[in-house]
Amino acid sequence: MSYVFAPAPPVSAPVVGTTARFPVHRIYCVGSNYRAHAQEMGRTGREPPVFFMKPADALVPVEAGATGEVPYPSLTHNFHHEVELVVAIGIGGRDIAADEAMRHVFGYAVGLDMTRRDLQAEMKKRSAPWCIGKGFDHAAPLGPITLAAQAGAILEGQISLCVNGAQRQSSALGEMTWSVPEIIAHLSAAWALAPGDLIYTGTPAGVGAVERGDLIEAMSTGLQPLRVRIG
Ligand code: MN
Repeated sequence: MSYVFAPAPPVSAPVVGTTARFPVHRIYCVGSNYRAHAQEMGRTGREPPVFFMKPADALVPVEAGATGEVPYPSLTHNFHHEVELVVAIGIGGRDIAADEAMRHVFGYAVGLDMTRRDLQAEMKKRSAPWCIGKGFDHAAPLGPITLAAQAGAILEGQISLCVNGAQRQSSALGEMTWSVPEIIAHLSAAWALAPGDLIYTGTPAGVGAVERGDLIEAMSTGLQPLRVRIG
C-alpha cells in the first residue's frame, strides 16, 4: 500500500519488565469519579459516569526513571493537574459485564489528565464540548504500564500527587464512585473497547494550577511513579 504522505507514527507506552511497547488505540477518560472532587467542581458526586476522550497522540509516554516534558499549553491561564489511575485494555469487547471486566485489563499506570481549566469552564458555561479544555496536545502524560498480574492489589492502594515536593492530591482508590469493572461495563456499552485502549479513571480532590518550571510527581501504590516537568 502507498500513502499520499507518510502516516503518523504509532503512539505507544512503555511496559515494565519488557522492551515491547503497548500500542495505544484510544484514550477514554472518566469525569468526576471521586465524590470529593465532584463536590469541588460543584456537583453532588452521585451523577452517572461522564466519559470524554483525548486524541491518542496527546499521550506523553514517560519511561521508568525519566522526567517527561509537558509544554505549558496555549490559550490558558489556569493549567491544572489531575492525577489518575489509568487502566490499559488488553482484550477488547462490547457490553462487557462488570464481573467479566477484569480479564480485559492488560495493566495499570499512573497518568495525568492535564486540563486547561479556564477553557473547560467556559465550555461548560456554554453547554459546549470540553475538547479544547481536555483534548489538546500533550494533555495525557502516562507512566510505564505494569502488568495486571504483577500489580498486586493496586485497587486497594493510594494515589497521590506532589508539585515541587508539596502534596496536592491524595486518596484511596477505593474512594472511586465507579469502580474499574463498573467503568469498563459502562464504557463498553457505549463504545467497542479494543486492545490498546487506555482509560483515565478520574481524579480525587485537590486539583490545582501548575506554572512553567513546576515538577509534578504522581504516584499510585504498586506502580511506577510518573514525573513531569512543565516547560
Ligand atoms: Mn480527569
